[in-house]
Amino acid sequence: MAGMTQPGEDAGNRHSGHDGHEESNGRGTARRTVLGAATAGAAALGLPSAAATPSSAGPAAAPSGHRPTEQPPSRELRALLREIDPHRIEATVRKLVSFGTRHTLSAQDDPVRGVGAARDWLLAELRRCAQDSGGRMTVELQSYVQQPAPRVPVATRITNVVATLRGSVTPDRVYVVSGHYDSRNSDPMNATDDAPGADDDASGVAVVLELARVFAKRRPAATVVFAAVAGEEQGLYGAGHMARTYRGGQADVQGMFTNDIVGSPTAEDGSRDPRTIRLFAEGVPTSETPEQAETRRSVGGENDSPSRQLARFVRDTAENDATGMRVRVVYRRDRYLRSGDHIPYLQQGYPAARFTEPAENYAHQHQDVRVVEGKQYGDLPEFCDFGFIARVARVNAAALWSLAQAPGTPRGARIRTAALGNSTELVWERGPEPDLAGYEVVWRETTAAEWTHVIPAGNVTRHVVDLSKDNVFFGLRALNRSGLRSPVAFCTPQP
Ligand SMILES: [Zn+2]
Repeated sequence: MAGMTQPGEDAGNRHSGHDGHEESNGRGTARRTVLGAATAGAAALGLPSAAATPSSAGPAAAPSGHRPTEQPPSRELRALLREIDPHRIEATVRKLVSFGTRHTLSAQDDPVRGVGAARDWLLAELRRCAQDSGGRMTVELQSYVQQPAPRVPVATRITNVVATLRGSVTPDRVYVVSGHYDSRNSDPMNATDDAPGADDDASGVAVVLELARVFAKRRPAATVVFAAVAGEEQGLYGAGHMARTYRGGQADVQGMFTNDIVGSPTAEDGSRDPRTIRLFAEGVPTSETPEQAETRRSVGGENDSPSRQLARFVRDTAENDATGMRVRVVYRRDRYLRSGDHIPYLQQGYPAARFTEPAENYAHQHQDVRVVEGKQYGDLPEFCDFGFIARVARVNAAALWSLAQAPGTPRGARIRTAALGNSTELVWERGPEPDLAGYEVVWRETTAAEWTHVIPAGNVTRHVVDLSKDNVFFGLRALNRSGLRSPVAFCTPQP
C-alpha cells in the first residue's frame, strides 16, 4: 500500500488541486469536464491511467493495484478488522459440527442433535451480540412452513436466524450478509446420519456471527443484517423466504453477500491459495425486464449489472493490506452445476454476490464421513483453515462497513439522449444522506472490464463530459464528507 493515501487525511480531497479542467458553475447547475483526448483525463486529474493499472491476475499476497476507484481503509475500519478473531470462528465451526447433522429435515426439538439445536444455539449467540448494541440490534427467528416441494417430502418448518443492526443515519438502506446453517451428506435426503458441514457451511455462518459481534458495538450509518439461513441444501428455501419478505416489504436492499464454502484455501491436489477469495457476480441481471433487455441490446451493459458494480466495490474496499486478501471476482452468477443463497435475492431484483473459497475439494463437501482406501471423506473441521476464514470475514467486513458508511448507490443516473451530440450530458437524483459531499463520474472504454477513469462532478445533479456516449461507458458514484464513495450506478439512456 506504499504511496496510498491514509484514510482520514485526504480521502475526501483526493482530487483537490486537480480541478483545473472544470468550470464550476455552482450547485445545481451543470459542470463541464473538457478532455482533450480520452486517455488524457486521468492524468490531468492526477489519477493513474488504465494502462498503469496492474492486472488482477497473479498470486500477489495483498495486491493493491492502483485502480482509480479503490478506497483505502480508514483508521476506523482497520480497528474493526483487527477485532476479527480466528479462535472465535473456530469455536463457532466446531460448535455447529457438534450438532451431528443440521439437515433441514432433521429434528427440530432435540436439544443436542439436529437443525433445531443449531437454530437455538445461533439465536442465543446473536442475542448475546445484541447486548452490546445499545438496543440497535434486534434478533428474530424468521420462520415459515414449506409445503412439500423438491427435496422437502413433507411440510417442514424452515427457520432463519436474523440479526438486524439498525442504521443510525439512513436505516431504510439495507445490506445483508448470510451463511447457511443447514448441512447435508452424500444423500440430500438423509436427515439422520452425520453431516458435519464444517466448510459447507459452518464456515459461512461463522463469518456472519463474527461480523455480528464486531459490528454490534458500532453505529453503522445504514442498516446491516446478519443472517444464518436454513434450507439451502434442499433448494435455497430459507434465503428465498427472506428475499421475498424484503421484496414484499419494499425493503431497499442495496447489496447482499452469501458466504458459502469459505472454509479452506487448499485445493484437491494439496496446493494452497491462502490469500484469495472468489466472488461470483452475475452479468445480465436475473431480474432483467423486457424493456431493460431492449436497452441493453441497443447500447450495451452486459457487464454492468448492479451486482457487478457491487463486486467492483468489494475489490475497491476489501482488496488491501488490511485484509491481506485478493478478491478474485468471477464474472458469472455461480459455479457450474451449483447455486447459492444470493440467487433468490437476484430474482427479487437485489444486487447480490457469492463468496467461495479459491478451489473446492469435493472429498470434503456433500460427503458421508468415511475412510476409503486410507482417504478421509467428509466435511470435517480438520480440513478448515480458521485463519483463512478470518481473512474472508475481514473482506466481508471491509465491504459491508464501507457500504454502510458511504452514501447509497445513486438513483436515476441517466444519459440525456434528446439530441445527437459529441459530448455527454449526465443527470441523476440527489441522495438523502445528510453528509453527502458530491458526485464522481466514472468511465471506461467499452472493451475494458473495470472503471478506469474518475471525474469529480461536484455537488450537483447534472454534469457534461466531453466524451461521446457512443464510445465509452459511464457510471456515477456519490461521496460524503468523510471521503467515502458509494458503489457505482451504471448510467443508462433517459427513457
Ligand atoms: Zn453450501
